[in-house]
Amino acid sequence: MGNATRNWIVGQLSLGEFASRRAVVSRSIWMAAKIAMLAYAMNICAHFALVALDLLPYALFPALVIATVLTPPVSFIVAVIAYSVVGFAIYDLGVSRAEFERISRTDMLSGLLNRRAFQSAFEASGGEASLVLFDIDRFKAVNDTFGHSAGDDVIVAVADVMRRSFSRGEICARIGGEEFAVLSEEPPCDLLLRVEHVRESIMALKVPAGERQVRVTISGGIADVVAGRAFGEIFSEADRALYVAKASGRNRIVRYRDIDSLSPGALSFPQALNDAIPALRRA
Ligand code: GH3
Ligand code: MG
Ligand code: MG
Repeated sequence: MGNATRNWIVGQLSLGEFASRRAVVSRSIWMAAKIAMLAYAMNICAHFALVALDLLPYALFPALVIATVLTPPVSFIVAVIAYSVVGFAIYDLGVSRAEFERISRTDMLSGLLNRRAFQSAFEASGGEASLVLFDIDRFKAVNDTFGHSAGDDVIVAVADVMRRSFSRGEICARIGGEEFAVLSEEPPCDLLLRVEHVRESIMALKVPAGERQVRVTISGGIADVVAGRAFGEIFSEADRALYVAKASGRNRIVRYRDIDSLSPGALSFPQALNDAIPALRRA
Protein backbone atom coordinates (compact mmCIF):
# COMPACT_ATOMS: atom_id res chain seq x y z
CA MET A 1 0.00 0.00 0.00
CA GLY A 2 2.80 2.38 1.01
CA ASN A 3 4.77 1.45 -2.12
CA ALA A 4 1.73 1.86 -4.36
CA THR A 5 1.10 5.35 -2.93
CA ARG A 6 4.74 6.32 -3.38
CA ASN A 7 4.77 5.04 -6.98
CA TRP A 8 1.58 6.95 -7.67
CA ILE A 9 3.05 10.22 -6.35
CA VAL A 10 6.30 9.72 -8.34
CA GLY A 11 4.17 8.97 -11.44
CA GLN A 12 2.24 12.20 -10.95
CA LEU A 13 5.53 14.14 -10.70
CA SER A 14 5.90 13.46 -14.43
CA LEU A 15 2.74 15.57 -14.74
CA GLY A 16 0.45 12.57 -15.11
CA GLU A 17 -3.00 13.35 -13.75
CA PHE A 18 -1.94 16.83 -12.65
CA ALA A 19 -0.67 18.13 -15.98
CA SER A 20 -2.24 21.58 -15.46
CA ARG A 21 -3.89 23.65 -12.72
CA ARG A 22 -7.20 23.04 -14.43
CA ALA A 23 -6.60 19.28 -14.27
CA VAL A 24 -5.88 19.58 -10.52
CA VAL A 25 -9.20 21.40 -9.95
CA SER A 26 -11.32 19.02 -12.03
CA ARG A 27 -9.59 15.96 -10.59
CA SER A 28 -10.12 17.29 -7.04
CA ILE A 29 -13.83 17.88 -7.67
CA TRP A 30 -14.27 14.43 -9.18
CA MET A 31 -12.40 12.67 -6.36
CA ALA A 32 -14.18 14.75 -3.67
CA ALA A 33 -17.56 13.81 -5.18
CA LYS A 34 -16.62 10.12 -4.97
CA ILE A 35 -15.33 10.54 -1.39
CA ALA A 36 -18.54 12.41 -0.40
CA MET A 37 -20.72 9.60 -1.78
CA LEU A 38 -18.61 6.99 0.00
CA ALA A 39 -18.77 8.92 3.29
CA TYR A 40 -22.52 9.30 2.94
CA ALA A 41 -23.02 5.57 2.21
CA MET A 42 -20.83 4.64 5.20
CA ASN A 43 -22.76 7.04 7.45
CA ILE A 44 -26.12 5.56 6.42
CA CYS A 45 -24.84 1.99 6.85
CA ALA A 46 -23.45 2.89 10.28
CA HIS A 47 -26.87 4.22 11.33
CA PHE A 48 -28.60 1.00 10.26
CA ALA A 49 -25.94 -1.06 12.02
CA LEU A 50 -26.49 0.92 15.23
CA VAL A 51 -30.25 0.38 14.90
CA ALA A 52 -29.70 -3.36 14.41
CA LEU A 53 -27.54 -3.46 17.53
CA ASP A 54 -30.09 -1.29 19.33
CA LEU A 55 -27.38 1.24 20.04
CA LEU A 56 -28.75 4.31 18.22
CA PRO A 57 -29.49 6.84 21.01
CA TYR A 58 -31.93 8.91 18.92
CA ALA A 59 -34.67 8.40 16.32
CA LEU A 60 -33.50 6.95 12.99
CA PHE A 61 -35.45 9.22 10.63
CA PRO A 62 -34.18 12.62 11.87
CA ALA A 63 -30.70 11.10 12.16
CA LEU A 64 -30.86 10.08 8.46
CA VAL A 65 -32.08 13.55 7.50
CA ILE A 66 -29.17 15.17 9.35
CA ALA A 67 -26.72 12.67 7.80
CA THR A 68 -28.10 13.39 4.32
CA VAL A 69 -27.94 17.15 4.74
CA LEU A 70 -24.51 17.31 6.40
CA THR A 71 -22.30 14.39 5.37
CA PRO A 72 -22.08 14.86 1.56
CA PRO A 73 -21.34 18.64 1.56
CA VAL A 74 -18.98 18.56 4.55
CA SER A 75 -16.98 15.58 3.27
CA PHE A 76 -16.99 17.06 -0.26
CA ILE A 77 -15.55 20.38 0.95
CA VAL A 78 -12.91 18.73 3.15
CA ALA A 79 -11.92 16.34 0.35
CA VAL A 80 -11.72 19.11 -2.29
CA ILE A 81 -9.44 21.16 -0.03
CA ALA A 82 -7.22 18.22 0.92
CA TYR A 83 -7.00 16.80 -2.61
CA SER A 84 -6.32 20.14 -4.27
CA VAL A 85 -3.63 21.10 -1.72
CA VAL A 86 -1.83 17.83 -2.47
CA GLY A 87 -2.61 18.14 -6.22
CA PHE A 88 -1.21 21.68 -6.51
CA ALA A 89 1.91 20.68 -4.54
CA ILE A 90 2.46 17.73 -6.90
CA TYR A 91 1.78 19.97 -9.92
CA ASP A 92 4.36 22.55 -8.74
CA LEU A 93 6.94 19.83 -8.06
CA GLY A 94 6.23 18.28 -11.47
CA VAL A 95 6.68 21.63 -13.22
CA SER A 96 9.98 22.36 -11.45
CA ARG A 97 11.18 18.84 -12.12
CA ALA A 98 10.39 19.21 -15.84
CA GLU A 99 12.16 22.60 -15.88
CA PHE A 100 15.17 21.15 -14.05
CA GLU A 101 15.33 18.31 -16.56
CA ARG A 102 15.13 20.77 -19.46
CA ILE A 103 17.94 22.88 -17.98
CA SER A 104 20.11 19.82 -17.36
CA ARG A 105 19.76 18.88 -21.05
CA THR A 106 20.32 22.35 -22.48
CA ASP A 107 23.49 24.23 -23.31
CA MET A 108 22.88 27.61 -21.70
CA LEU A 109 24.88 29.71 -24.17
CA SER A 110 23.42 28.39 -27.43
CA GLY A 111 20.11 26.92 -26.30
CA LEU A 112 20.95 23.70 -28.18
CA LEU A 113 21.09 20.31 -26.45
CA ASN A 114 24.24 19.67 -24.42
CA ARG A 115 26.62 16.74 -24.79
CA ARG A 116 24.89 14.56 -22.18
CA ALA A 117 21.48 15.03 -23.83
CA PHE A 118 23.00 14.38 -27.25
CA GLN A 119 24.52 11.10 -26.10
CA SER A 120 21.24 9.94 -24.50
CA ALA A 121 19.31 10.86 -27.66
CA PHE A 122 21.90 9.01 -29.74
CA GLU A 123 21.61 5.92 -27.56
CA ALA A 124 17.82 6.04 -27.66
CA SER A 125 17.75 6.23 -31.45
CA GLY A 126 18.01 3.09 -33.55
CA GLY A 127 18.67 2.30 -37.17
CA GLU A 128 20.94 3.84 -39.74
CA ALA A 129 21.95 7.47 -39.45
CA SER A 130 24.93 9.78 -39.72
CA LEU A 131 26.86 11.54 -37.00
CA VAL A 132 28.37 14.90 -37.94
CA LEU A 133 30.91 16.67 -35.75
CA PHE A 134 31.62 20.35 -36.43
CA ASP A 135 34.39 22.46 -34.96
CA ILE A 136 34.88 26.18 -35.55
CA ASP A 137 38.26 26.80 -37.14
CA ARG A 138 40.94 28.73 -35.27
CA PHE A 139 38.46 29.86 -32.67
CA LYS A 140 41.12 30.60 -30.10
CA ALA A 141 42.31 33.37 -32.43
CA VAL A 142 38.77 34.85 -32.41
CA ASN A 143 38.88 35.08 -28.61
CA ASP A 144 42.40 36.45 -28.65
CA THR A 145 41.62 39.08 -31.29
CA PHE A 146 38.05 40.16 -30.46
CA GLY A 147 37.61 39.09 -26.83
CA HIS A 148 35.77 36.23 -25.13
CA SER A 149 32.39 37.90 -25.32
CA ALA A 150 32.66 38.30 -29.11
CA GLY A 151 33.68 34.63 -29.15
CA ASP A 152 30.45 33.80 -27.31
CA ASP A 153 28.47 35.80 -29.89
CA VAL A 154 30.10 33.76 -32.66
CA ILE A 155 29.13 30.51 -30.91
CA VAL A 156 25.52 31.74 -30.64
CA ALA A 157 25.44 32.80 -34.30
CA VAL A 158 26.87 29.46 -35.46
CA ALA A 159 24.38 27.61 -33.21
CA ASP A 160 21.53 29.57 -34.84
CA VAL A 161 22.66 28.42 -38.28
CA MET A 162 22.80 24.83 -37.00
CA ARG A 163 19.34 25.08 -35.41
CA ARG A 164 17.79 26.46 -38.60
CA SER A 165 19.61 24.03 -40.87
CA PHE A 166 18.95 20.88 -38.89
CA SER A 167 15.30 21.26 -38.06
CA ARG A 168 13.95 18.23 -39.91
CA GLY A 169 13.85 15.98 -36.86
CA GLU A 170 17.64 15.94 -36.51
CA ILE A 171 19.28 16.04 -33.09
CA CYS A 172 21.59 19.00 -32.88
CA ALA A 173 23.82 19.83 -29.91
CA ARG A 174 26.71 21.95 -28.72
CA ILE A 175 28.95 19.29 -27.25
CA GLY A 176 31.89 21.42 -26.20
CA GLY A 177 33.39 24.91 -26.42
CA GLU A 178 33.21 25.49 -30.20
CA GLU A 179 32.11 22.00 -31.14
CA PHE A 180 28.73 20.89 -32.39
CA ALA A 181 27.22 17.49 -33.19
CA VAL A 182 24.30 16.46 -35.36
CA LEU A 183 22.58 13.10 -35.63
CA SER A 184 20.59 12.78 -38.84
CA GLU A 185 18.68 9.95 -40.46
CA GLU A 186 18.80 11.64 -43.86
CA PRO A 187 20.48 9.56 -46.61
CA PRO A 188 24.23 10.38 -46.54
CA CYS A 189 24.31 12.02 -50.00
CA ASP A 190 21.49 14.47 -49.17
CA LEU A 191 22.97 15.11 -45.76
CA LEU A 192 26.37 15.86 -47.24
CA LEU A 193 24.81 18.57 -49.42
CA ARG A 194 23.12 20.13 -46.41
CA VAL A 195 26.28 19.96 -44.33
CA GLU A 196 28.17 21.68 -47.15
CA HIS A 197 25.45 24.31 -47.23
CA VAL A 198 25.87 24.86 -43.46
CA ARG A 199 29.62 25.25 -43.94
CA GLU A 200 29.00 27.88 -46.62
CA SER A 201 26.39 29.69 -44.52
CA ILE A 202 28.83 29.90 -41.63
CA MET A 203 31.54 31.17 -43.94
CA ALA A 204 29.12 33.95 -44.98
CA LEU A 205 28.28 34.96 -41.38
CA LYS A 206 29.36 38.39 -40.21
CA VAL A 207 29.11 38.62 -36.43
CA PRO A 208 29.31 42.19 -35.11
CA ALA A 209 32.06 42.86 -32.55
CA GLY A 210 31.98 46.57 -31.71
CA GLU A 211 33.01 48.44 -34.83
CA ARG A 212 34.27 45.28 -36.48
CA GLN A 213 32.84 42.05 -37.80
CA VAL A 214 34.03 38.54 -37.02
CA ARG A 215 34.09 35.95 -39.76
CA VAL A 216 34.74 32.30 -39.15
CA THR A 217 34.84 28.98 -40.95
CA ILE A 218 33.96 25.53 -39.72
CA SER A 219 35.24 22.01 -40.38
CA GLY A 220 33.23 18.82 -40.12
CA GLY A 221 33.67 15.07 -39.89
CA ILE A 222 30.93 12.57 -40.76
CA ALA A 223 30.62 8.95 -39.65
CA ASP A 224 27.97 6.38 -40.53
CA VAL A 225 25.87 5.21 -37.60
CA VAL A 226 25.26 1.47 -37.75
CA ALA A 227 22.87 -0.16 -35.27
CA GLY A 228 24.63 -2.09 -32.54
CA ARG A 229 27.83 -0.02 -32.51
CA ALA A 230 28.69 2.01 -29.44
CA PHE A 231 28.43 5.80 -29.33
CA GLY A 232 32.16 6.06 -28.49
CA GLU A 233 33.23 4.10 -31.58
CA ILE A 234 31.14 6.14 -34.01
CA PHE A 235 32.07 9.38 -32.29
CA SER A 236 35.75 8.65 -32.65
CA GLU A 237 35.32 7.88 -36.38
CA ALA A 238 33.62 11.25 -36.89
CA ASP A 239 36.36 12.84 -34.79
CA ARG A 240 39.06 11.28 -36.95
CA ALA A 241 37.33 12.55 -40.09
CA LEU A 242 37.19 15.99 -38.46
CA TYR A 243 40.88 15.74 -37.70
CA VAL A 244 41.57 15.01 -41.38
CA ALA A 245 39.43 18.02 -42.37
CA LYS A 246 41.45 20.22 -40.01
CA ALA A 247 44.81 18.85 -41.01
CA SER A 248 44.06 19.20 -44.70
CA GLY A 249 43.39 22.91 -44.53
CA ARG A 250 40.14 23.44 -42.51
CA ASN A 251 36.84 24.90 -43.83
CA ARG A 252 35.88 21.51 -45.26
CA ILE A 253 33.82 18.41 -44.54
CA VAL A 254 35.29 14.90 -44.60
CA ARG A 255 33.46 11.59 -44.42
CA TYR A 256 35.20 8.89 -42.42
CA ARG A 257 34.48 6.24 -45.04
CA ASP A 258 36.13 8.44 -47.71
CA ILE A 259 39.37 8.97 -45.85
CA ASP A 260 41.13 6.10 -47.62
CA SER A 261 40.06 7.20 -51.06
CA LEU A 262 40.90 10.89 -50.68
CA SER A 263 43.48 11.79 -53.25
CA PRO A 264 46.37 13.73 -51.78
CA GLY A 265 45.89 16.50 -54.34
CA ALA A 266 42.17 16.91 -53.71
CA LEU A 267 42.58 18.14 -50.19
CA SER A 268 46.11 19.45 -50.42
CA PHE A 269 47.19 17.36 -47.46
CA PRO A 270 50.58 17.94 -46.02
CA GLN A 271 52.76 14.90 -46.79
CA ALA A 272 52.86 13.91 -43.13
CA LEU A 273 49.07 13.60 -43.08
CA ASN A 274 49.02 11.55 -46.27
CA ASP A 275 51.40 9.17 -44.59
CA ALA A 276 49.24 9.10 -41.48
CA ILE A 277 45.91 8.34 -43.20
CA PRO A 278 46.22 4.53 -43.20
CA ALA A 279 47.01 4.65 -39.48
CA LEU A 280 44.07 7.01 -38.83
CA ARG A 281 41.78 4.60 -40.61
CA ARG A 282 43.01 1.68 -38.49
CA ALA A 283 43.19 3.51 -35.16
P1 GH3 B 1 41.11 24.45 -34.56
O1 GH3 B 1 40.88 25.09 -35.88
O2 GH3 B 1 42.20 23.43 -34.62
O3 GH3 B 1 39.87 23.89 -33.97
O4 GH3 B 1 41.66 25.58 -33.60
P2 GH3 B 1 40.88 26.28 -32.41
O5 GH3 B 1 41.64 27.51 -32.05
O6 GH3 B 1 39.46 26.46 -32.75
O7 GH3 B 1 40.96 25.17 -31.30
P3 GH3 B 1 41.49 25.23 -29.83
O8 GH3 B 1 41.02 23.93 -29.23
O9 GH3 B 1 42.96 25.51 -29.78
O10 GH3 B 1 40.73 26.43 -29.18
C1 GH3 B 1 39.41 26.40 -28.84
C2 GH3 B 1 39.14 27.63 -28.05
O11 GH3 B 1 37.75 27.75 -27.74
C3 GH3 B 1 39.87 27.66 -26.73
C4 GH3 B 1 38.82 28.13 -25.73
O12 GH3 B 1 39.28 29.21 -24.99
C5 GH3 B 1 37.66 28.56 -26.59
N1 GH3 B 1 36.37 28.34 -25.94
C6 GH3 B 1 35.89 27.19 -25.42
N2 GH3 B 1 34.65 27.38 -24.94
C7 GH3 B 1 34.34 28.69 -25.15
C8 GH3 B 1 33.18 29.49 -24.86
O13 GH3 B 1 32.17 29.03 -24.32
N3 GH3 B 1 33.23 30.79 -25.23
C9 GH3 B 1 34.32 31.33 -25.83
N4 GH3 B 1 34.30 32.62 -26.17
N5 GH3 B 1 35.42 30.60 -26.10
C10 GH3 B 1 35.43 29.30 -25.76
MG1 MG C 1 37.63 22.21 -30.63
MG1 MG D 1 38.23 24.78 -33.17
